[in-house]
Amino acid sequence: MRTKQFKSESKKLMDMMINSIYTHKEIFLREIISNSSDAIDKLYFKSLTDEGVGIKADEFKIVIELDKENRTVKVIDNGIGMTEDELDKNLGTIAKSGSFDFKAENEKKENVDIIGQFGVGFYSAFMVSDKVTVETKAYGSDEAFCWQSSGAEGYTVSPCSKETVGTVVTMHIKEDTEDEKYSEYLDQYRISSLIKKYSDYIRHPIVMNFETKKPIEGKENEYEDVTEIRTLNSMIPIWKRAKNELKDEDYNNFYKEKFMDYEDPLKVIHTATEGSATYHALMFIPKHPPFDYYTKEFEKGLQLYSKGVLIMDKCGELLPDYFSFVKGLVDSEDLSLNISREMLQHDGQLKLIAKTLEKKIKGELERMLKNDREAYEEFFGAFGVQLKFGVYNDYGMNAQNIKDLLIFKSSKEDKFVTLKEYIENMSEGQDTIYYACGETVERIKLLPQFDAVKDKGFEILYLTENVDEFALMMLREYDGKKFMNICDENLNLDSEEEKKALETENNDAKDMFEEMKKVLGESVNSIRFTNKLKNHPVCLTSEGGISLEMEKTLNSMPGSEQNKVKAQLVLEISATHPVADKLKELYGKDNETLGKYAKLLYGEACLIGGKPIENPVEHSTIVCELMTK
Ligand code: ADP
Repeated sequence: MRTKQFKSESKKLMDMMINSIYTHKEIFLREIISNSSDAIDKLYFKSLTDEGVGIKADEFKIVIELDKENRTVKVIDNGIGMTEDELDKNLGTIAKSGSFDFKAENEKKENVDIIGQFGVGFYSAFMVSDKVTVETKAYGSDEAFCWQSSGAEGYTVSPCSKETVGTVVTMHIKEDTEDEKYSEYLDQYRISSLIKKYSDYIRHPIVMNFETKKPIEGKENEYEDVTEIRTLNSMIPIWKRAKNELKDEDYNNFYKEKFMDYEDPLKVIHTATEGSATYHALMFIPKHPPFDYYTKEFEKGLQLYSKGVLIMDKCGELLPDYFSFVKGLVDSEDLSLNISREMLQHDGQLKLIAKTLEKKIKGELERMLKNDREAYEEFFGAFGVQLKFGVYNDYGMNAQNIKDLLIFKSSKEDKFVTLKEYIENMSEGQDTIYYACGETVERIKLLPQFDAVKDKGFEILYLTENVDEFALMMLREYDGKKFMNICDENLNLDSEEEKKALETENNDAKDMFEEMKKVLGESVNSIRFTNKLKNHPVCLTSEGGISLEMEKTLNSMPGSEQNKVKAQLVLEISATHPVADKLKELYGKDNETLGKYAKLLYGEACLIGGKPIENPVEHSTIVCELMTK
């Protein structure tokens, strides 16, 4: 027998468990029981098609044995067991690598419930034990093996004798210390209340010998010690229980354990339907995205049960992409137990369920938006981007369906508004929804066009996320009102008279602009005077469909290197700013200086618009030249 090393991540986790000051050490039991239950599910599932299993459905169970003298807690199951290889693989490494990096990173943050960060699973036994033994015999194997470890130094695996298929986990409970009374885990009342609290819904009976006293018949006030076998869990899955029987705490505990979150969910959606599709569903909207939510590895889906038996862990067909953040499960009476993934995709029943669930989720979000703005804003902060992608993706196929779930911060009160609320707030005669893009609200407020639009009494939506403008483009309009970027060259807030005057002014300056354009080359499409700037001398706007923000976003995407997108830029100069007079004065007399000024103004406009200056050295040289003139 040789001691093997834990993989390095597992070793770190083990260290953490052993030295844990985590206050909820009691969760170790639910972790171990939940593993047993999974193992039984697996063997039960096999037994449906394989007569060789030889265990009847009602014989599956989890047995708890407490031994105060030897300080051990045993969890015994007649599940599928593990082979020697599986023991090594499953208990020698953390399956969910990557989650650990995330956890380590968050460790520094205060108040983060590190242990709860993700399901620590089996290793949590070491929070309360100084030695753990796992004896197991896999289904279909004649040999049994024993895994044993006393801590982070390593573990051993050796052959052992075990009659029946299944697993026995023996936890040697630590000695009490001043701060921790580990002995409580050897107490039958404590253990049975823990099982009620965390594992009540487990489908298989969890049984334990209970020592009690019974009155002796015929003798008053005399009792005898008796041992009775008790089933400690109700076995009714939480999703099949009546809503009024359940407390928030029940839902929250279930959610955190099952979906490995350290925070309570933001919303619980518990529904049952009979009729064309019969199912129970229990869904949760988390408070925050899982660590891998915005990566390729993330897999959406709900757990799918058929008559209480788990048949698929992540059934993606049950959730549209824009609701991929929803966690939960569906238990249906109508699905066959051994339905394959391929068959599921074409299953009409499943499609029907998915449709009704989608409506439920949408309804819940709408209700939250209406009745609990604060919670909705919290939700939107976590998952709003996903909804906006939902509007944009698939050529806007779902845009109409979810457009009313979008909220944007707006200039009116710097608060979030829906598009509908924007329309309701519109001034008389306003036919356009104005928006502005920038990295932050503060930056947007500095845009030269901002004040002009705001002063006219128009509300402006702040778009600070890359996807925002693309989503609005996909919507095209809302309630007959088109969207307009305040940086669009078509932004026109002038009266007819002002328009005419400006046109004349631009016509007069045509040649001057040509001269300036020669210096700027391809950088800008055209140059013109504008009335839309209040105090600023210049701004950049864009003609055509691509705005400056879109140019930035598209060019930052992977693979865009060879295929740079270019917005068609217009350099707009305030017609009333003294700088306009200066340009006119120079034109024809000193075209060289005019050219330099053109470059400077373009540079300024880039800086203000958040676009890098193409030639910062030249820009700086001209500025210094002017300073020393
Ligand atoms: P998780 O259960 O989240 O996968 P654990 O660390 O709790 O992580 O367990 C690791 C793996 O060990 C399980 O996925 C399972 O394959 C195996 N395992 C643990 N306990 C048992 C058991 N009682 N019977 C069979 N396999 C088990």
